[in-house]
Amino acid sequence: MPDLLPRDDVTTWGPRQVPVPYATHWTGEDVTASRIVLRPDFAGIRYPDETPTDRDAHGVLWGRVRQDPGAGKPDFQALHPNRQRRTMEHRLCQVCAQPASHNRDGWLFLLNADHDHNGDTDTDTDRAGFEGALVTKPPLCLPCAQLATHHCPHLTRPTAIRSRRPRVWGVFGTLYTLTPAARLQPHHDLHLPYTHPALPWFLASQLVTELKRCTTVDLTTEFQALR
Ligand SMILES: [Zn+2]
Repeated sequence: MPDLLPRDDVTTWGPRQVPVPYATHWTGEDVTASRIVLRPDFAGIRYPDETPTDRDAHGVLWGRVRQDPGAGKPDFQALHPNRQRRTMEHRLCQVCAQPASHNRDGWLFLLNADHDHNGDTDTDTDRAGFEGALVTKPPLCLPCAQLATHHCPHLTRPTAIRSRRPRVWGVFGTLYTLTPAARLQPHHDLHLPYTHPALPWFLASQLVTELKRCTTVDLTTEFQALR
């Protein structure tokens, strides 16, 4: 394994100077206690004090989470909704927030072939190749991908994938339905495509990308070619 390049653009935490990805959620970034209510036309959900920034370009309502990276401890299992969406949407590296790695094989993503965590369907994709994988983890630049394979405890079988056509697919989060008594009932941890009629009833926490035209790549070879 080649040496890691020294990095001064990545936040570190604790005495062991563990790198903390830009998109990681910090425990001090509390979920803002916002009430979800029924729209006056009964056609979906809203915040009582909603502003245009609460919805994305598709009109989907997003969860409110305070933005204060560095507050408390990093929660390496969770991504901050705003920073996840920003990096995913603009194809920025989830660790350093610089442009993600892109070459003739496409954009670089790091998937875990063993586990289905944070909503990613990596387990299914392991059988069928990674073509069409739905992912919530944003892409990476090459040096950060190398860093992540060394430090990220959740990546037990990291697999580097390049996708020539990563496509914004939809959202991950909570779907609300109405009970017979007309109360809102949440259903957590669901994926919903941007074409789905239930979007007005969805509270998003992550942007979901579909990876098309995928190639599995060898990070070590790519990293050595870079030097
Ligand atoms: Zn990076």
